Amino acid sequence: MSEKIHTHIFDSVIVGAGGAGLMAALYASRSSNVAVISKLYPTRSHTGAAQGGIGAALGNLEEDHWEWHAYDTVKGSDFLADQDVVDILCREAVETVIELEHMGLPFDRTPEGKISQRRFGGHTNNETGQPVMRACHAADRTGHMILQTLYQQCIKNQVQFYDEYHVMDLIRIDDTIRGVVTVNIATGEYHIFHSKAVLIATGGWGRCWEVTSNAHSLTGDGAAICLRRGIPLEDMEFFQFHPTGIFRLGILLTEGVRGEGGVLVNDQGERFMERYAPTIKDLASRDVVSRAIYLEVQAGRGIGGNNYVHLDVRPETVNHYLKEAGEDRRIDAAYIEEKLPDIADFTRTYLGVDPVREPMPVQPTAHYAMGGIPTDLHGRVVLDGENTILDGLYAAGEVACVSVHGANRLGTNSLVDLVVFGRRAGLHMADYCLEADLLPLPDNAASSVVNEISRIRGNSGGVKSHQIRTDMQRTMTDNVGVFRTAETLAKAREVLENLAEQYESIEIDDKGKRFNTDLLEAWELGCLIELAQATTESALARFESRGAHARDDFTDRDDENWLKHTLCFKDGDSNRLDYKPVTLGRYEPKPRVY
Ligand SMILES: Cc1cc2nc3c(=O)[nH]c(=O)nc-3n(C[C@H](O)[C@H](O)[C@H](O)COP(=O)(O)OP(=O)(O)OC[C@H]3O[C@@H](n4cnc5c(N)ncnc54)[C@H](O)[C@@H]3O)c2cc1C
Repeated sequence: MSEKIHTHIFDSVIVGAGGAGLMAALYASRSSNVAVISKLYPTRSHTGAAQGGIGAALGNLEEDHWEWHAYDTVKGSDFLADQDVVDILCREAVETVIELEHMGLPFDRTPEGKISQRRFGGHTNNETGQPVMRACHAADRTGHMILQTLYQQCIKNQVQFYDEYHVMDLIRIDDTIRGVVTVNIATGEYHIFHSKAVLIATGGWGRCWEVTSNAHSLTGDGAAICLRRGIPLEDMEFFQFHPTGIFRLGILLTEGVRGEGGVLVNDQGERFMERYAPTIKDLASRDVVSRAIYLEVQAGRGIGGNNYVHLDVRPETVNHYLKEAGEDRRIDAAYIEEKLPDIADFTRTYLGVDPVREPMPVQPTAHYAMGGIPTDLHGRVVLDGENTILDGLYAAGEVACVSVHGANRLGTNSLVDLVVFGRRAGLHMADYCLEADLLPLPDNAASSVVNEISRIRGNSGGVKSHQIRTDMQRTMTDNVGVFRTAETLAKAREVLENLAEQYESIEIDDKGKRFNTDLLEAWELGCLIELAQATTESALARFESRGAHARDDFTDRDDENWLKHTLCFKDGDSNRLDYKPVTLGRYEPKPRVY
């Protein structure tokens, strides 16, 4: 049966309406006509769930410098970040946050009316090593405010939105980009967006794991689509586990809780981070804290012998440690309600725990993809270890890897990444469109999507998405989690291969067209499996421990052999790996001490 295919023409198409996509749209729309395509209504993007803050060395409450921010970022990355782009990130963070303020973003304020800042993991005064107040915030709803502000600005600039269109393919003919193929979720009809340039900003893929802070929609579609179209994925082995997810549910309790003075406590009532990171304690970088929790639990010091520890932000606890640290500041229950209203609401709703009176049960939760589609400092996608540019294709935000986060991202640095590199990519794309021609569409541009969808729709193999999804998520959590070994990774590889095979005969119940989420979720699962495989393959080959990639069988960082980025390509049904050098700069790699 031949399908009707609708076609739309734009200069540039942006896939994703989170912080990165909207910032890029805002800038690209200044001189090109732009469509933003999103499978979710824009303000439902995961950026809206970001809680704690956006980092910028404004120095509003105490001395700070963007160079300190840069050093913390490089150190936090375990020296895998590219230092040229880290400089851009931290320098431009300052002007970008002020720009957001001018757009109307309602940041919390200091008594003098400046943007309020708080402490966050890994952000320090480089001279003393003590935590510094660098995270600009709007209560614990910073991402929500960023997303709403940018969306309003885009509407004002008359950016055209295609809400609830699901992008399924990139039209790449040799080394040219011609647009994307989408399904309109409401009607099930195919729409091609024919364009000169495409920017991918589809966010992360935490849904590969069982316990995650990520929304259901975070299935890595843009990364998987690029992988299928011959683009490598960089540093996939580095996936961040955030230390404080709500036990079993994975819902995030922001690092801002510890930034406000909250502490992690084991079954013996001990503030165990004092042992693992004597200077910065609970505000060590996330990889360090997640591993500490894991080791406490392994040693039998989880609460009641269980798989979790306590996060304690009760005023009496916080005040005890503030006094011990010689600080004058004291907090009370009203302060918690004001600074962490959503956190208090989450734990009351989901756990029946009142954080003002009781400690909260937490465990590490799969949170953030450091790796992704490799780009240069203008968001242009690169194709290989020589950084060959693929003209017309851009990526920004969590799905991209410009490599500012290296092996471990610092809290608050993702929101900075979205706005700094979203803006750069948008600007470059607008310039590119002024010069570039609209190349013709091939006749069969949508055929691989149409065939894949009708294959899934027609299958009667009896294998259901939820079975494969559950097996994949368990396998990833057990074998490609906070700690890994050759044995666990080889096991994951075998299971995933088997699941990929089963996926071929996946059967859906809803055979209809309109709002067929059964079908779309089955398609998304295909993306997750491929990304889980790329992660496992990249992790298996890296014989060292660095940042979020902690191997029990290679416990040391090995700069001599492994100070390099992984590139994972798809070759038929298997993955092929290559490597490219890290761009160093002012900071020589040295062991991290907190
Ligand atoms: C609970 C939580 C709290 C966080 N807190 C912080 C914080 O305090 N500070 C910080 O710096 N970072 C934080 N992060 C990380 C940060 O929020 C994310 O990394 C960031 O928001 C990702 O933004 P993005 O623009 O790349 O993608 P997202 O905001 O995830 O948006 C992705 C967009 O892509 C669209 N999309 C995806 N696939 C398709 C498709 N196939 N077709 C069409 N559209 C598609 C979606 O509709 C959506 O619009 C947090 C993350 C979580 C999960």
